Amino acid sequence: MAAFFFHEGYVAPLPAGHSFPMSKYQTTRDALQEAGASFVAPDQAQRALLLGAHSAQYVDAVLSACVDPAIERRIGFAVTPAVALRSLLSVGGTWAAAQAALLAGFAANVAGGSHHAMPDGGAGYCVLNDLAVTAAGLLDQRHVQRVLIIDLDVHQGDGTAVCLAGRRFDGERGAFTFSIHCEKNFPTRKAQSCRDVGLADGTGDDGYLDVLGRELPGLFDAVRPELVMVQAGVDPHGDDRLGRLALSDAGLVARDAMVRAACLEAGVPFIATLGGGYDADVVRLGQRHATSLLTLAGFTVPADNRENPVGSGVAQS
Ligand SMILES: [Zn+2]
Repeated sequence: MAAFFFHEGYVAPLPAGHSFPMSKYQTTRDALQEAGASFVAPDQAQRALLLGAHSAQYVDAVLSACVDPAIERRIGFAVTPAVALRSLLSVGGTWAAAQAALLAGFAANVAGGSHHAMPDGGAGYCVLNDLAVTAAGLLDQRHVQRVLIIDLDVHQGDGTAVCLAGRRFDGERGAFTFSIHCEKNFPTRKAQSCRDVGLADGTGDDGYLDVLGRELPGLFDAVRPELVMVQAGVDPHGDDRLGRLALSDAGLVARDAMVRAACLEAGVPFIATLGGGYDADVVRLGQRHATSLLTLAGFTVPADNRENPVGSGVAQS
């Protein structure tokens, strides 16, 4: 069975009424458990690993929970000791998922996908960039030569692109960053991924899936990745507060099934990270994230999404 990395420290207290749906990590975990998933607790990421994508000054500020208030404003919440721990565990979860996937074909982190975090500071609810830290570590330690990051979040993966600029795919090795997002959404000033696809507001299922289906084969052919890292944000959903791409439940399932099929067809191990999702109903949001991870893992999807079946039972990849 696929490994799902989760730690109770993923949920850190925020001030009452804060707009970030922190409890979604717990509701996602609960929905996954209901579907039969089991969990592995990750270790905290080590300082040396974090230095692959972040400056020493920023890493030490996070580790001591003394982050510049100006950076905290860009993040959207204060980096308290609990938030710092949560960030280290989240990076640890993505790192552990990558190690597990290289052995078993697939693993998921029930957190992570913190793609707005930059080398010198966090942003957009992201403290440390787990995707960039993991890709950098895998490349630097020669676990793999080529990593493909498929960022499906409705927001551009700007931080990942910037953090990995020095390891950009050169045709033979490095990290290839692909982001498919809503063009007129945060961040207003986009970074340059290796490949960016900015979609119009209200694109919807058919338009979205048509574009993604045309992009994926070329990515796998060009990069020949040894590991794929998926940022599976569910904020392209039509009910999402920060969305705008107007995807349906079935559209998200079809999206994730398409990415899974592409990885399987290429024979490449892959990981899923949670990414963004901002539905006001955190139980429904947790179910949406869980369905996404389960679809990527090859589990049977819930009955209300059966119009896009993605295989039967628990897959072994
Ligand atoms: Zn997002």
